[in-house]
Amino acid sequence: MTGPQLRLEGVSAGYGRTTVLRDIDLEIPAASVVALLGSNGAGKTTLLRVASGLTRPSAGRILVGDRDVTREAPNERRRHGVCLIPEGRGIFRSLTVRENLVLQIPPWEKDTSLDSALDMFPALKTRLGDIAGRLSGGQQQMVALARAFFGSPSLVLLDEVSMGLAPIVVDTIFEALHVLAARGTALLIVEQYVNRALDVADHVYLISRGSITFQGSSADLDQTEVMRHYLSHDLTSDRSPT
Ligand code: ATP
Repeated sequence: MTGPQLRLEGVSAGYGRTTVLRDIDLEIPAASVVALLGSNGAGKTTLLRVASGLTRPSAGRILVGDRDVTREAPNERRRHGVCLIPEGRGIFRSLTVRENLVLQIPPWEKDTSLDSALDMFPALKTRLGDIAGRLSGGQQQMVALARAFFGSPSLVLLDEVSMGLAPIVVDTIFEALHVLAARGTALLIVEQYVNRALDVADHVYLISRGSITFQGSSADLDQTEVMRHYLSHDLTSDRSPT
């Protein structure tokens, strides 16, 4: 692979007749961390859906490495290293923790042991036989994030993974993101904790009403001015969990 890990070229997408994303150009260099920030309804989740293959673009191209995946289904993209951690955790609440973890191991990686995730989230070790729906919100999110530790994905797309969690659990979640980044996994992070996202990100894109309005290195971002302008509320301090 020579190019960036993920590239969106002139991507437009929406639902039915509603266009949500308009002519999006976005690049995630290999082994880099990109934060995608924007206000509610700006199109962040839709962009992650398009990148993962859940939503087909109405225009434009999506490349993973050198490969044009525009027409590939989510499971094919997963096979080529793209892993989505969806908003709202996406776990099976009525199954046990062990069953959830086993289901997250890609079928072509059957030799992968649960240890790769359990080493990252030791709190799950004693809960393997428990019904996932009975875990705390933080532990459920750890189960959801375990997917990123199976099968060495080259790109992980993370949609609001700290949503609704207590700050101490958010610390654990971000530690996991730092571990993935240190391994060279490219990350695209949609996150309500803007400062934490910028702390791990190399690069940031701001999205407003379905269009990219700013992109640059996180270090160069003038947080107080640019964020206030583009995100429509004061983000100089992190939002409290809801
Ligand atoms: P949030 O932070 O609130 O999740 P977001 O930036 O992730 O916002 P999206 O969820 O991508 O935004 O939504 C962008 C727009 O698309 C919104 O106006 C939303 O109402 C609309 N939308 C999202 N999902 C659907 C759907 N399945 N059908 C129709 N419209 C949708």
